[in-house]
Amino acid sequence: MEDILKAFGITTEQSGISTGKNWLPAHGADITSVSPVNNKKITTVKSASREDYDGVVAVAQEAFKEWRLWPAPKRGEIVRQIGVALREHKEQLGKLVSYEMGKSLQEGYGEVQEMIDICDFAVGLSRQLHGLTMHSERPGHRMYEQWHPLGITGIISAFNFPVAVWSWNAMLAWVCGNVCIWKPSEKTPVTALACQRIVEAVFAANHVPEGVCCLVTGGRDAGEWMAHDKRIPLVSATGSTRMGKAVGAAVGERLGRSLLELGGNNAIIISQDADLDMSLIGAVFGAVGTAGQRCTSTRRLIIHESVYDNFTARLVKAYAQLHIGNPLDQHNHVGPLIDKAAVDAYLSSIEQVKQQGGTFLVEGGVLSGPGYESGCYVKPCIATVENVYDIVQHETFAPILYVMKYKTLAEAIAMQNDVPQGLSSAIMTLNLREAEQFLSQAGSDCGIANVNIGTSGAEIGGAFGGEKETGGGRESGSDAWRAYMRRQTNTINYSNSLPLAQGIKFDL
Ligand code: NAD
Repeated sequence: MEDILKAFGITTEQSGISTGKNWLPAHGADITSVSPVNNKKITTVKSASREDYDGVVAVAQEAFKEWRLWPAPKRGEIVRQIGVALREHKEQLGKLVSYEMGKSLQEGYGEVQEMIDICDFAVGLSRQLHGLTMHSERPGHRMYEQWHPLGITGIISAFNFPVAVWSWNAMLAWVCGNVCIWKPSEKTPVTALACQRIVEAVFAANHVPEGVCCLVTGGRDAGEWMAHDKRIPLVSATGSTRMGKAVGAAVGERLGRSLLELGGNNAIIISQDADLDMSLIGAVFGAVGTAGQRCTSTRRLIIHESVYDNFTARLVKAYAQLHIGNPLDQHNHVGPLIDKAAVDAYLSSIEQVKQQGGTFLVEGGVLSGPGYESGCYVKPCIATVENVYDIVQHETFAPILYVMKYKTLAEAIAMQNDVPQGLSSAIMTLNLREAEQFLSQAGSDCGIANVNIGTSGAEIGGAFGGEKETGGGRESGSDAWRAYMRRQTNTINYSNSLPLAQGIKFDL
């Protein structure tokens, strides 16, 4: 790992504050990043004090005055070059993501690929920030709308997608003409430093103004500064529902805009008409991939009673074949949880499942012995539960899969929807009527609803996000870019008189 840190110019003690051109002295607390893979320290990052933060915001405000004047396709050209630089650094950055966060190497590379994909998307978008034209009711008038940048986009990100979430926001925000300040998760600051280095080089080569790409490393307090800061018109926050409620309230109180991407409680309905081989792959990858630490991880399986015994038996068999261990070893399917606190939350959830009446088809537990010294490796487990159990209604960010039975599709859809969260959902069925019912307005209430694909992961081309306690925000593809811009309606009078709207007369 040392060679990778060196390649990104990351030292053993280093400032976590940058304006995209200069690294600034940091006066906040030290954040020590420790790998969950082997419990080894990666680097100590110096975080921002309130004063440091204010200094960065001032630089970003100045940068916006210039950056908003660059033509959008020119901004897109800069993002294109970031995509090229990410391709060059894919292997190094992917490994670093895997090492600092603990996801498998393939998923680390996959995360960087997502960043490359969003760059490509944003480049095209930079020529398509379209507004509508409307017909005026008045003769000699023209009406149209245009989209303008907002200013500073504050990005608060979670540990589990330590770099991709930032890129979904930043690449779109940049082509839209905004400047960004990123507050990465305090659990994964080093991958953020690496991204900053990659962008820095591209920006320097293109004389992008200082302050377009800012990094402010810090804990919850730094996120709170952003949420309360009137100078930041848009705060995009990804993380727990607890965090989203706090950020949403603080930004709402000042009538700013927030874009919230919060927790999920994702279910797959496995119908009697499902292809069970495909369902097995979707369910197992969804539940154990990233050790259950994806917002789209499969938490619940709602299985038709006629295939329940057969399918759960196959699940148990599949779990027995999982390899748990160092995520950098491609032989392993499941890496560690992010830290000991996550392990405690996992153990506590298992206890609660038992107390609330659940039974385990596959038992959980913490692994120990050679290779598991960090204490963060846990066994993926499966429990039989009722959907109404309090613990099932909550998102536990760990590989605990809940299974339950249903009789009718209406009952299955009601169970799928009967949780506070609304991110991702899926049905496995070869029956067209069932699929369409699931996708209808009376079907899944989630932001993402799939047929014959699991809940986990998504392509960047679609708008990503969810309803209810997932926060309602949409990022990435489709028209998600509109969240980063302000709409302006323009009416132009090219006639020789000034007729008022709705035929009102005002004679002078
Ligand atoms: P977290 O809420 O603990 O932290 C996320 C970020 O918010 C961190 O940068 C943290 O410093 C900051 N933060 C925490 N409290 C804050 C506050 N009061 N004000 C401002 N900032 C605050 O989440 P985590 O443990 O890093 O990530 C896991 C969670 O993220 C899960 O719930 C997961 O479902 C969710 N997530 C959602 C999506 C999505 O797109 N819907 C994507 C990834 C992760």
